[in-house]
Amino acid sequence: MSEAKQVGQLYINGTFKPAEDGQTFEVLNPYTLAIIGEQAEASEKDIQAAIDGAVQAFRTWKQTTAYERAGYLRKLLHLMQTREREIAEVMTLEQGKPVAEAVGEVRYAASYVAWYAEEGIRVTGDLLAPSQTDSRLSVRKIPVGPVGIITPWNFPLAMFVRKIAPALAAGCTVIVKPAEQTPLTAVKFFELIHEAGFPAGVCQLLTGEASKIGSAWMASSAIRKISFTGSTAVGKMLMRQASETLKKVSLELGGHAPLIVFDDADLDMAAAGAVESKFRNCGQVCVATNRVLVQRSVYDAFIEKLMKRTSALTFGDGFTNVDMGPIIDKQGFDKIVAHVDDALAKGAKCLLGGKPAKGGGGYLFEPTVLTDVTSAMRIAKEETFGPVLPVFVFDTEAEAIQMANDTPFGLAAYCFTENLSRSIRVTEALEYGMVGLNTGRISAAQAPFGGVKMSGFGREGGRYGIEEYLVTQYIATVYK
Ligand code: ADP
Repeated sequence: MSEAKQVGQLYINGTFKPAEDGQTFEVLNPYTLAIIGEQAEASEKDIQAAIDGAVQAFRTWKQTTAYERAGYLRKLLHLMQTREREIAEVMTLEQGKPVAEAVGEVRYAASYVAWYAEEGIRVTGDLLAPSQTDSRLSVRKIPVGPVGIITPWNFPLAMFVRKIAPALAAGCTVIVKPAEQTPLTAVKFFELIHEAGFPAGVCQLLTGEASKIGSAWMASSAIRKISFTGSTAVGKMLMRQASETLKKVSLELGGHAPLIVFDDADLDMAAAGAVESKFRNCGQVCVATNRVLVQRSVYDAFIEKLMKRTSALTFGDGFTNVDMGPIIDKQGFDKIVAHVDDALAKGAKCLLGGKPAKGGGGYLFEPTVLTDVTSAMRIAKEETFGPVLPVFVFDTEAEAIQMANDTPFGLAAYCFTENLSRSIRVTEALEYGMVGLNTGRISAAQAPFGGVKMSGFGREGGRYGIEEYLVTQYIATVYK
């Protein structure tokens, strides 16, 4: 990756441009903490121009056929496939994840573009049985309108592509506000949007002060939908703000995923699933395992297998051949340290890691395994968002279900068992939007991603995901 500083601009009405008042903010490499670029900080005027452009473009975009929109998405897909390495390197530079993982994210994001290029043409309405002769009762599914999209830094590309692909397929226009830590991946992606030839105003990119952009969208009755992925605190606030103009809202918020290992589990699969779901992206994933619950009779055998895998994990510069990169920033790092210190102070045992590591100057934390963890510890209740795996022990199935559900969150849960009846009982008793049975990997373009309880609502992916961007119009007709 070139050492030259990146300069990221806004993308409004089909043109890349600096902020109206020339303001920028710095973008850091989380591995070295070096400043790697500058990104335009949108002014009030830019934000309004993006809204106005999206509103105007919606008038014509919604009239295009689903086939036409699919054509644009296919062009975008092709560009993502041919330029995946280029996008991935920008991602590693500003987010820190290993390049191979970043390439995986580009492919994952592209799979949503591929899916919705096909799914858009399958949106249909209904013709209802009339209650009198000479009448037609028809139901149409129409795009909700211009959409405001706000996403976090952990998946700098996939988080918003998962939203814009169904939105564009449905006939909505979109304005994307990526996280301030990772704007350059979005800029790179919008170069492809530009090359794919989407009409001006259909896809807009705003970067800068989150609350300023968010407030302007909320004040505008023309923005009809907000799709947000991020913290529960910000999600709740956005929902309150959206109530003023009654926008449609989708919220994909925090999680606290349990991973249950029963005594009849394939312990190799369970250990592999735990490691994959915990240490991917350095644990900075909303569906990452936050608690491993192990049945007492297989506890020692499972720990042995887990330790073999976790102690082999490597970490460091994402541009080298490592399993994990750095923590995104000091705030994230401090939370991880606080969770581990709190657990150790309250009697947890550290089998591996447990401390920061030295690297390029940024924030690295060793892959960590904690045992003897209890519900009195912060890590048992709060999302750690780091490479720390706390292990709990249980005796009965009922106890495991109770422990797994004992959280305000309800995003993802995992269960390992080879027993058919138990697998049905337990997966259906878990109060979670998504459940992995004998797997730590659940996300797929064709499947509904999303949570319940304090993890939010709305689904991304598959035929469920496009519904978030559609509203129903009913037309009652009497004819002569
Ligand atoms: P995280 O802890 O993962 O950074 P946040 O919820 O703070 O989670 O951030 C997720 C996204 O929400 C980011 O794009 C961030 O800029 C945005 N965001 C944060 N605060 C606000 C706000 N007041 N209004 C609108 N967006 C916000």
